[in-house]
Amino acid sequence: MRVTAARFLGASARPGGEPAAGLPEVAIAGRSNVGKSSLLNRLVGRRGLARISATPGRTRQLNFFAVNERFVLVDLPGYGFAVGPERERLGWGPLVEGYLLRRATLRGVLLVVDVRRGLEEEETQVLDFLAAAAVPAAVVATKVDKLARSPAHAALERITGTADVPVVAFSARSGEGRDALWRVIREWIAGPPRSLRAT
Ligand code: GDP
Repeated sequence: MRVTAARFLGASARPGGEPAAGLPEVAIAGRSNVGKSSLLNRLVGRRGLARISATPGRTRQLNFFAVNERFVLVDLPGYGFAVGPERERLGWGPLVEGYLLRRATLRGVLLVVDVRRGLEEEETQVLDFLAAAAVPAAVVATKVDKLARSPAHAALERITGTADVPVVAFSARSGEGRDALWRVIREWIAGPPRSLRAT
């Protein structure tokens, strides 16, 4: 997709604080510092759109970006430091969980992992949570530029073997995987809207 326009729509720091639902939405999830902002910026070709932060956990809100006035990318807060082992629920809390469970315009979630770490306990929890909520997901294995070809291949095989959702190899540095990622996004936003059961 050629991005001709990308703009910050708004942020939400409390449940119900999201911008009015309208265009289809694709959310980006991942632990802090994994490379979510870099991915978002590379995807839309805007260097400074999402703030790239070296400080883990600084972003605790949902950030909404309209792309080509056609769909919305949603940057979710990182979860790497908040998962309590005693809790059944994801350590994200009601802000993100409420969004994922109730946002009618949500079409899919890109779960970003460091290709060198792969899927750990929290990522498996996120994928289980999304499956239970009937939200389509894909794993984006980022920073592939940090591995040589053969170890990268082995790492990707491991991830593909564990995840039962599509896996895309990606590098925000080189741009590798950008087209594959756009294909996933295009398919989601062209698909039917989510049907939420009234509770
Ligand atoms: P976020 O906290 O998940 O939004 O992560 P950032 O996008 O701020 O990235 C964290 C750090 O990883 C920064 O220093 C980035 O420059 C670096 N980084 C992100 N993606 C890549 C990538 O694909 N390749 C390499 N080599 N570094 C990356």
